[in-house]
Amino acid sequence: MEELLLEMNHLKSCFFTRKGVVPAVDDVSIQVPKGKIVGIVGESGCGKSMTAKSIMDLLKYPGRVVEGEILLDGKDLTKLSARERRKVRGEEVSMIFQEPMTSLNPVVKVGKQVREAIMIHQKITKSEARERVLEVFRQVGISEPEKRYECYPHELSGGLRQRVMIAMAMVCRPKLMIADEPTTALDVTIEAQILKLIKELCDTTGMSCLLISHNLGVIAQMCDYVYVMYAGKVVEQGDVYTLFDHPEHPYTRGLLASIIRLENLPERLSTIPGVVPNLMHLPEGCAFCRRCAAAMERCQKERPGLYEVGEGHHVRCFLTEEREAAHE
Ligand code: SF4
Repeated sequence: MEELLLEMNHLKSCFFTRKGVVPAVDDVSIQVPKGKIVGIVGESGCGKSMTAKSIMDLLKYPGRVVEGEILLDGKDLTKLSARERRKVRGEEVSMIFQEPMTSLNPVVKVGKQVREAIMIHQKITKSEARERVLEVFRQVGISEPEKRYECYPHELSGGLRQRVMIAMAMVCRPKLMIADEPTTALDVTIEAQILKLIKELCDTTGMSCLLISHNLGVIAQMCDYVYVMYAGKVVEQGDVYTLFDHPEHPYTRGLLASIIRLENLPERLSTIPGVVPNLMHLPEGCAFCRRCAAAMERCQKERPGLYEVGEGHHVRCFLTEEREAAHE
């Protein structure tokens, strides 16, 4: 049995708007073993980024975690004070986002920004911090680190800016890195380099990573375990081989069918019809029923639970439940 770093149990995060309550993350349980890369995949609006922000305590008003626990090495982050949470964020858990320009200060040199990130958390001198920044710049593949240290964000390419963000996330040697669509804004060649870098950093440092992506191709290439989210809930979870070789949920199958396979290019790309439902007005039954070609009568009225179909493989669908019941 693998040792867990992060264990999120029955997490629920809602936005309390004037129009009503939006359950952005609803009863989500996710486990991240030490040293592993765990992916969360789904369309935009499925709750994957909100799940990450709940861990980091970055949900903006009027959103907040309302139920559940987030255990990091056994310590429940939901029970910590704001000050303690800030300490965890940066020292033990760090996050990188899709667009580094929104996270970097445009008028401060990148070296100084990363140096300050260390000095907030560690008692070291400016010159020691500078040395550590240069070391991490080298570690994340930034060439001519002394020269880049003196650059402003706009003087760097998109790929280099993302490497600076990864350096900032790595500088305090976190146990967990949360990467929220880290390569979406980059072109394909740079994307491959950044993904390779994240994987290498996990392999060499023993850090775990929670990778959030809408792209199943990225998830397949990177992750050990995968959680597929839809309308705020996990609809399928399993190890990466099981999930890609034996997908069970109609939504996972739809996502897989929409990946372009170069060796087997279809005449038309497959898509999942319809859109993600409004979380404030979810259907009475299965949240996917309006888009599901396999929907049955009971799907309109009842909400499926998560059924275990194999070791660590869980699916939220009545088809699976009925098939499992028929086998018993
Ligand atoms: Fe489709 Fe019904 Fe399964 Fe939902 S429970 S995914 S509607 S078959």
